[in-house]
Amino acid sequence: MTKALSEIAQEKGIRYFLISFTDLFGVQRAKLVPTAAIDSMEANGAGFAGFATWLDMTPADPDLFAIPDRNSLFPLPWQPEIGWMPADLYMNGEPVKQAPRYVLKQALSQAEAIGYRVKTGVECEYFLLSADGTDISDLSDRASKPCYDQQALMRRFDIIAEICDAMLAMGWEAYQNDHEDANGQFEMNWTYADALVTADRHAFFKYMVKAIAEKHGFRATFMPKPFPHLTGNGCHTHLSIWDLEGNTNLFDDEKGELGLSRLAYQFIGGVLHSAEAVCAFTNPTVNSYKRINAPVTNSGATWSPNTISYTGNNRTHMIRIPEAGRFEFRLADGAANPYLLPAALIASGLDGIKHQREAGQRYDNNSYTDPLPFGTVKQLPANLLDALRCLQANTILPDALGLDFVQSYIKLKQREWNDYSTRISPWELENTLDC
Ligand code: ADP
Ligand code: MG
Ligand code: MG
Ligand code: MG
Ligand code: MG
Repeated sequence: MTKALSEIAQEKGIRYFLISFTDLFGVQRAKLVPTAAIDSMEANGAGFAGFATWLDMTPADPDLFAIPDRNSLFPLPWQPEIGWMPADLYMNGEPVKQAPRYVLKQALSQAEAIGYRVKTGVECEYFLLSADGTDISDLSDRASKPCYDQQALMRRFDIIAEICDAMLAMGWEAYQNDHEDANGQFEMNWTYADALVTADRHAFFKYMVKAIAEKHGFRATFMPKPFPHLTGNGCHTHLSIWDLEGNTNLFDDEKGELGLSRLAYQFIGGVLHSAEAVCAFTNPTVNSYKRINAPVTNSGATWSPNTISYTGNNRTHMIRIPEAGRFEFRLADGAANPYLLPAALIASGLDGIKHQREAGQRYDNNSYTDPLPFGTVKQLPANLLDALRCLQANTILPDALGLDFVQSYIKLKQREWNDYSTRISPWELENTLDC
């Protein structure tokens, strides 16, 4: 017999549970439930009004019920009497098809149906800011090439070590932490796992970093481009496909180009094919487009792509093949929804396998100093509206991820774009006042 969650709570010393779900815009919504009520919440779900979140719903819709997934129970390392659990959403007893965790699960079951198990790893860059969010937290962190800066890293040892210790205690196999390429920017790496496990960890990581930073009097941001002259926050995603037992990496082929199998190149071919539409999920905010297609930063490079192209161990293209058996998708940014990011990659990659799409030519140029002549490869969308229109024109992603979901996503994001478009910026005044 499975143990009741209330019993598990007793054993672990948990007094409260956070039943949490991630909405279409990546915001985490939660109810804090005392242990005395958790068993009925697990059976029936915690109630939410969908319209009050970034979901495509109205105030007249029935309540949502969030059923927590006990397989992903994380006691908060900094507050162990609270247990966090990601939840799946139901309405009228049916799964909510626009819920991001559901969308990822659908993509994964499509992979599973044809014998594939997807594993992913993410690199979630973030800045540590002052508590009010106006500047980086460490005003001594001013080097023009701050990447791997030992002194600046160690001035934030208390926070970094607290987060890393937490990841180790949770069994994520954390293996390195560094100061990244922008002043005030850090990255912490843990080992890849099944895509749903990584997605839940990714969601939790964002919450954990923000919470621990706040505890130390700072504010953490994953915003794609908080400072125009500094490198932005990427969320590089590494992906490989395995057999269902998870023993054999099907992307590995020692005879293949750069150690990648034909299957891997077809998957990459699919991602390249749908990249402009995938961008609407992996680069989901107005601000995302200030990170890609961007001018050179203070450090000498943006480290983000400008074109829809792939390469070997070269950090200036959208897809990098760092070693045998996996590829890195460098386009995604810190605003990407932890569930929709892998879902979009998997949907486009599986389409590549299904249609045996060619990855085409590999480019080994330095895209920053020696860009490909215009027209050689496709360009990335220039802004959110451009990406949304590409998603609107794409049939592969709605086929795989659900038409209703994609339409809901476009509807809400289009409203965000429209809201942004009503604002008059200082740039417009400077450039148009005297027209
Ligand atoms: P880099 O900064 O060089 O791009 P990192 O070490 O920061 O690389 O991150 C690499 C990520 O890729 C880690 O999460 C790692 O576990 C993951 N990874 C390594 N091998 C695979 C693989 N076969 N499939 C998916 N992810 C992988
Ligand atoms: Mg109420
Ligand atoms: Mg890294
Ligand atoms: Mg990095
Ligand atoms: Mg990387």
